[in-house]
Amino acid sequence: MDAVDAIVVGSGPNGMAAAVTLARAGLTVRVYERAPTIGGGARTSELTLPGFHHDVCSAVHPLALASGFFRRFELRERIGLVVPEISYAHPLADGRAGIAWRDLDRTADGLGRDGAAWRRLFAPLVRRANDVAQFSGSAVLQVPRHPLTVARLGLRVLEQGGRGWNSRFRDDVAPALLTGVFAHAVRPMPSLATAATGLVLGTTAHAQGWPIPIGGSQSIIDAMAADLIAHGGQIVTGTEIAHLGDLPPARVVLFDTSARALARIAGELLPERYRRALGRYRYGNAVAKVDFALSGPVPWRNRDLAAAGTLHLGGSRRDIARSEGEVAAGRHPGNPYVLVSQPTPFDGSRAPAGSHVLWAYTHVPRGSTVDRTEAITAAIESHAPGFRDVVLASASSTAEQVEAYNPNYVGGDIASGDVTVAQLVARPVFSATPWRTPARGIYLCSSSASPGPGVHGLAGYYAALTALRDEFGATSSPPLGRTGAGQLP
Ligand SMILES: Cc1cc2nc3c(=O)[nH]c(=O)nc-3n(C[C@H](O)[C@H](O)[C@H](O)COP(=O)(O)OP(=O)(O)OC[C@H]3O[C@@H](n4cnc5c(N)ncnc54)[C@H](O)[C@@H]3O)c2cc1C
Repeated sequence: MDAVDAIVVGSGPNGMAAAVTLARAGLTVRVYERAPTIGGGARTSELTLPGFHHDVCSAVHPLALASGFFRRFELRERIGLVVPEISYAHPLADGRAGIAWRDLDRTADGLGRDGAAWRRLFAPLVRRANDVAQFSGSAVLQVPRHPLTVARLGLRVLEQGGRGWNSRFRDDVAPALLTGVFAHAVRPMPSLATAATGLVLGTTAHAQGWPIPIGGSQSIIDAMAADLIAHGGQIVTGTEIAHLGDLPPARVVLFDTSARALARIAGELLPERYRRALGRYRYGNAVAKVDFALSGPVPWRNRDLAAAGTLHLGGSRRDIARSEGEVAAGRHPGNPYVLVSQPTPFDGSRAPAGSHVLWAYTHVPRGSTVDRTEAITAAIESHAPGFRDVVLASASSTAEQVEAYNPNYVGGDIASGDVTVAQLVARPVFSATPWRTPARGIYLCSSSASPGPGVHGLAGYYAALTALRDEFGATSSPPLGRTGAGQLP
C-alpha cells in the first residue's frame, strides 16, 4: 500500500482518538485493525440472540464525559448519551441498598448516619470535578495545574487506601457503596491504587454522572470513524501487524497495542534498556464476563435498583475486600464481586420491545479458563429472585477468551497493565511524555500508557500531539470539534 504520513496500529478508542487528531492536523492517516470490525474495547454486537445488542467490553462511560479529548471532539453533540439519575447502586444481602445518585445531597440523605461523612468525602472533589478530571487524565509526572485539588484528592486517597479506611463510617452501607467503586481497579484492598481509582470515578458519579451511549459503546467509535474518514483517513480491518515490515513507509507509527506487543513488533528499533523496561511492565488480574438476553427487566428485590445504570454486587466492604484478595491469591471466590450494567431501561434500541440485555463481569485470576456464568447468575439471583426465569440466553467469556478476543487484554487484564501506584506513575515507563519511545517516529498510544484504562481517548490524543510536535513541528492542537480550533494543553 502507498506511503502515508501516519499509521495507527489498532482501532480502540485510543487508536481512533490518535487517528482523528492526526487527520485533523492535515496528515494522511491509515489505521490497521486485526479484528474484522473496528472499536477494540468499545464494540457492540449481537452476542446472544438476533436483535439483542450487547457491549462486548466497555458499557458505561464516566470517563467519556470527563475526557479532555472527547470534550474537544464534542462527543456529546455527536451521539446520544443518556445519564441515569442513579450512577451506581449496591444491594446488600438483607434487601437494603446504597444508592449513589448523581445528586450528592440526595445520596448523602439516603446514607443515614454516614450521610455527612459521604458528603465531606466527595463535596470538595465534586466542586472541583474538572480539576480532578484534568489531573487524573494526564501523565502523573506532569506538574499539577490545580495543586490544592490534587492535595485534597491525595489526602482522601491516603485515608481510603490505608488501614484507617473505616474510620469515617459508622454503618455498613456507605463503605460497601464506596468499595464497589474501588473494586473497578481489580486489586486487593485497601490500597492507594483502588482508592485513587474509586475516588476519581466516584467524583464523576456526582459531577456529570455515568452515561450510557444510545445504541451501545460502538456509537462512540462510529462517531470517531466518521470524523476520520471525513478528513481523509483510511481504515484497514482484518490485518494484524506482527512486525514493522508489515507496514508501508510512514513518518510516525502509533501503537494502540499492549506494551508487550509494542516490544515484540517494534523491538528491533527500540534500545535494549527500553525493551527491558517494557519487559518489567506488569499485567494485573482479569475479568470473566457474561451477557444475558432477558425476556423482561431484572426482578430486583429492592425496587430502587431498577433505575440504576450500574450495580456492584458482592456484599459488605469486608466481603469484597476478601473476595478481591482471593482473586489476587489465584482463586475464584465463592461470593464474588460482580459488576452489572443494565442499559435497556435507558436505551430501548438495544433489545426487542419488552426485552432487555444485561452485562456483567466478575474478577478472576489472570489467564483463568473458568466459565463464571453460574457464579454471576447466582449472585444476581440472590438480589433478584426469579432472575433465572427471565434469562432467554447468555454468552460467556473466560479471561482466556477475553485475551483471545483482544490481545491488549493480556491474560484477561482489561486495563492492559496492572493498576498499581507505580504503574500509574510509570505507565509504561517513568517519563513526563510516556507515549514517546526512544525510537524516532514510534509511539505507544494505548491504555498501557498514561493515563491508563477506560474509554477516554486521552492516551491516543496525547500520543498524537507528541508526534505532531516531534515530527511535524506543530505548536497547537488541531480543531477536533465540529467547528473551531484548539490550543495544545
Ligand atoms: C469486559 C470489559 C469491560 C470494560 N468496561 C469498561 C467500561 O464500562 N468503561 C470504560 O471506560 N472502560 C471499560 N473497559 C476498558 C476499556 O474498554 C479499555 O480501557 C479501552 O478500550 C482501551 O482502549 P485502547 O484504545 O487503549 O485499546 P483497545 O480498546 O483494547 O483497542 C486495541 C485495538 O488494537 C487492536 N490490535 C491489537 N494488536 C494489534 C495488532 N498487532 N495489529 C492490529 N490491531 C491490533 C485490537 O484488536 C483492538 O481493536 C472494559 C474493558 C473490558 C475488556
